[in-house]
Amino acid sequence: MTGWSSRVRAGVALLNPREFALALARCPYCGPSVFVRLRREETGVRCTRCAASAVHLALGWVLRDRVVRLGDCDACELSARGPLVAFLRRSARSLATSEYFADIALGTSRDGVRCEDVQRLTYADASFDLVTHTEVLEHVPDDARAFIELSRVLRAGGATIFTVPMHEGECTVERARLRYGVIEHLHAPVYHTDPLRAGAGILAFRDYGYDILDRLRSAGFAEAVLVTPVQRIPWIVPRAVVAARKSA
Ligand SMILES: [Zn+2]
Repeated sequence: MTGWSSRVRAGVALLNPREFALALARCPYCGPSVFVRLRREETGVRCTRCAASAVHLALGWVLRDRVVRLGDCDACELSARGPLVAFLRRSARSLATSEYFADIALGTSRDGVRCEDVQRLTYADASFDLVTHTEVLEHVPDDARAFIELSRVLRAGGATIFTVPMHEGECTVERARLRYGVIEHLHAPVYHTDPLRAGAGILAFRDYGYDILDRLRSAGFAEAVLVTPVQRIPWIVPRAVVAARKSA
């Protein structure tokens, strides 16, 4: 209840009355629903039933369109709550969830939530058919290591489907790097926040370009594509979703 009321308070703070809009559409997670636009920004859009954001909606639509037999998938999601987790928990054969906590050992749990770092996953090789994540990899210092880890924990033919913020250019812009344990800024630091969640922003190590697909192929994925979901809501221009598959 506290989470819900704090979300409502944050939503009111986000509201720009002149940009407010409602639309009826099908949510990939909870079915027929009303969508609200609090302001003309990607973060201002939510499903009023499950609170899915525009980013979660894009991923959900691609999961619906591309992963036909979710019920046969052992899935892994690199977060532990929210509408995507709830959907995978009831749709996939099994689901592993986690968060990253800097102060506990990888593979151990805090309050029932397992700690995982995508650069050093503790899951065995070939554990999953599907790994999902939203807005994670831009915050990871060594994304090449993360792509190799994602490939390692997937079975043959398995896929990772995820979102990262992308710019229109070909080349990824590295904004910061970790050298000898110290963050070195190559461009002015940018921190990402979710306005409906409390807490400080997280540093973005890079802005991805289309060469993210080459990075995935270099890590061993046989196929890497950008998928733009069909536009279901007039004022949501869906975010492109990255889908990469290991050879069968
Ligand atoms: Zn929903």
